[in-house]
Amino acid sequence: MNSFTYFMPTKVFFGKDCIVKNKEVFSDFGLKALILTGKNSAKKNGSLAHITSALSDRKIEYVIFDEVEENPSVETVLKVAEIGKKEKIHFVIGIGGGSPMDCAKAVACLVKNPQRGREILTADEQVSYIPVIEVPTTAGTGSETTPYSIVTDHEKRTKYSISQKIFAQVCFLDASYMNTLSAKVTNNTAIDALSHLIEGYMAKKANFFSDKLAEIGMDIFKKCIPALKKREYSLEIREQLMLASTIAGIVIAQAGTSLPHAMGYYLTYEKNIPHGRANGLLTKAYLELFPEKTKVNCILEHLGLQSLEQLAEFLKEVLDTEETFTEEDIYYYTKQVSKNKVKLSSYPYDLTEQDISFIYKNSVL
Ligand code: NAP
Ligand code: FE
Repeated sequence: MNSFTYFMPTKVFFGKDCIVKNKEVFSDFGLKALILTGKNSAKKNGSLAHITSALSDRKIEYVIFDEVEENPSVETVLKVAEIGKKEKIHFVIGIGGGSPMDCAKAVACLVKNPQRGREILTADEQVSYIPVIEVPTTAGTGSETTPYSIVTDHEKRTKYSISQKIFAQVCFLDASYMNTLSAKVTNNTAIDALSHLIEGYMAKKANFFSDKLAEIGMDIFKKCIPALKKREYSLEIREQLMLASTIAGIVIAQAGTSLPHAMGYYLTYEKNIPHGRANGLLTKAYLELFPEKTKVNCILEHLGLQSLEQLAEFLKEVLDTEETFTEEDIYYYTKQVSKNKVKLSSYPYDLTEQDISFIYKNSVL
């Protein structure tokens, strides 16, 4: 067996009302918190109220920034970090989908190193960071158990994973916050979790632990397939989706993501296609490209599917595919992705531009 390491230091609380039931943990992190959310959802789904009530109960001060946009920009990260420094905060809490959770991690580095700026996001050396607490309200990105923070760079017209690796100290998984999620966001984000399980499983860095976790994640995901197709989600299904997503986060924390993520960033930037959906469009063609099918067949088996065609049918059904790309789009994306040597090296075989273009051309659109 190949040698490997396994590291995932985040303490996970799971279950309804787990924030309020475990409020004493907040006192471990300091006397003042910065809470990051998107514009609306955290106020509507009860997560923000639970956090502020727990903090008040522990006599912890807080400031709220409620304008983290989808696919947060470097500019937003820098702006929020300035607020954090001015307010002398001790820890950051990200509530929401991957966007506020990722923003919280990048901000944690900038606040801890006040003399430094934007370059920290791409610096070679790992810097220290103030504690981060994450509350996912989509399932999802798994950002609560990954060390990654993805930001949008408008100068480079794409998204990238910052060079700093930041694990949350604690995360709270309460699937009831997802009751306000639309069917569209539920399905798109569920497919992000599925793409993490699949890409982590197929990546060059996959190891014994990450593979076993990915298989458990896929077994859980399989139970959710009928609900995703019907677009009817009980709390039990929401909980299963949350578990699959958090496990998928642990998988990619070890093995990383691969081509659909690297390729999907262009679909998100140029066509405004939500992240999970962008990956999902490319997943079937990505698996088709693999010359060796043993693990591809394991994926199908764990998901209860007979063939890659059935996987494509499932993806089309749950994503309601509607976008189109032109030959010129594909040419541009292929050229850009081909420059991303780090991401391409996650594929266990040599890759050509034709291979990348094959995946775009054979997407489920
Ligand atoms: P998101 O961009 O965080 O949020 C998408 C939308 O869902 C927003 O409009 C948000 O509204 C809404 N929303 C969130 N929770 C809701 C709830 N419970 N009820 C109703 N609406 C809700 O979406 P995401 O797909 O979770 O995150 C995507 C980001 O994560 C991308 O930038 C992606 O690159 C990144 N990502 C990170 C990792 C990682 O390892 N760190 C992995 C994969 C993806 P509000 O704005 O009002 O909150
Ligand atoms: Fe993702």
